[in-house]
Amino acid sequence: MVSVMTKPSSLDACENTKPLMPIRFNQPYMVGPEAEHVQASLASGKLCGDGAFTHRCQEYFEQSFGFNKALLATSCTDALEMAAILMNIQPGDEVIMPSYTFVSTANAFLLRGAKIVFADTERDVPNIDIATLESLITPKTKGIVVVHYAGMACDMAALMPIVKKHNLMLIEDAAHSIDAYYLGEDGSRTPLGRFGQLSTFSFHETKNIICGEGGLLAINDPAFQARAEVIREKGTNRAAFFRGEVDKYNWRDIGSSFLPADYVAAFLWGQLENLRLIQDKRLNVWNTYYKALKPLEDAGKVALQKIPAYSEHNAHLFYMVCDSLEQRTALMSFLKDRGIQTTFHYVPLHESPCYLSQPEHMRAEARELPNTKRFAECLVRLPLHGHLSEADMARVTDAVIEFYNA
Ligand SMILES: *Cc1c(COP(=O)(O)O)cnc(C)c1O
Repeated sequence: MVSVMTKPSSLDACENTKPLMPIRFNQPYMVGPEAEHVQASLASGKLCGDGAFTHRCQEYFEQSFGFNKALLATSCTDALEMAAILMNIQPGDEVIMPSYTFVSTANAFLLRGAKIVFADTERDVPNIDIATLESLITPKTKGIVVVHYAGMACDMAALMPIVKKHNLMLIEDAAHSIDAYYLGEDGSRTPLGRFGQLSTFSFHETKNIICGEGGLLAINDPAFQARAEVIREKGTNRAAFFRGEVDKYNWRDIGSSFLPADYVAAFLWGQLENLRLIQDKRLNVWNTYYKALKPLEDAGKVALQKIPAYSEHNAHLFYMVCDSLEQRTALMSFLKDRGIQTTFHYVPLHESPCYLSQPEHMRAEARELPNTKRFAECLVRLPLHGHLSEADMARVTDAVIEFYNA
């Protein structure tokens, strides 16, 4: 770039007054073939669900991540609702999950009449604090739902023995966690979503791999497979009928309409074909931010995202933890003035109007969840998507550094 000194002064003035392009927190990143696949799907004359692109995506998930069965769903929310039905949740059953999560994690189980018992997060990582779980388990506990926040694995070596000892169901809300891994002490590398009997993923436009609205139910325990297919098809065995396994289909079970149209799967296929490219772009942003901001952390000014040693994350989010709510508010407004959009994250569910309005037998005893509170008040996420240029990233990190050095 030409240095400012050599430019005519009129041009300088012009450049100085040109508003900087805003840097959006999220901007859906499409690679190219998505529209082409949607066109092909439309041209096929079959628009409803469970078509060729749906099968192609499902096979991809089964082969790449080793799920016993993958079923595309209309959203991660719907996949969680399918999981709650498959678990046979009855009124009075208790389900333990973090308070620091999206509403759908809890809503799906509340809809089936479960009493939701919220756990705190760890101090340094916004994942469920496994050390507190045993104190929350009662004879009525049916299962545990974990969320691998930002695609960072929960401590599975600590969790799995508890799940086994108490004979609980484990559901992974892996909405953030496509192509993220748990690293075992024995050198193993297990995709997140492979631990629970059931796991759920999201392809909402704010996630890594997208199709607008979409999700996946991953089934690791084959015992759930046949029933999951029925639940997804309005409670009917239509899928078996189309495979020619039965000569008519009928109402078998409760269920709903959880199938995405095949052209939605066609869009998703365009993303899956390019999964490596998308993930590498995100990881590059994450690593660039981390490297540029590490000196701030070393100087004790702000805490950067801490990746547990057993976690290979997927750059779903880049976040920092400020010292206080006041500092976060000031930082976000400082960045906003410079055209940089940032966001905080979850509002604790244990203090939400919906939870507090449940009848008493549907609520756990009120407890302070201090780590949840801290992440709710102090965590801030920086823009992270495939459209960010090196210059954009530098603008973001320079502004953060300027704020903390001011
Ligand atoms: C995004 C998200 C969901 C919901 O995903 P949808 O596909 O939008 O329904 C559920 N849980 C978590 C943790 C999420 O981040």
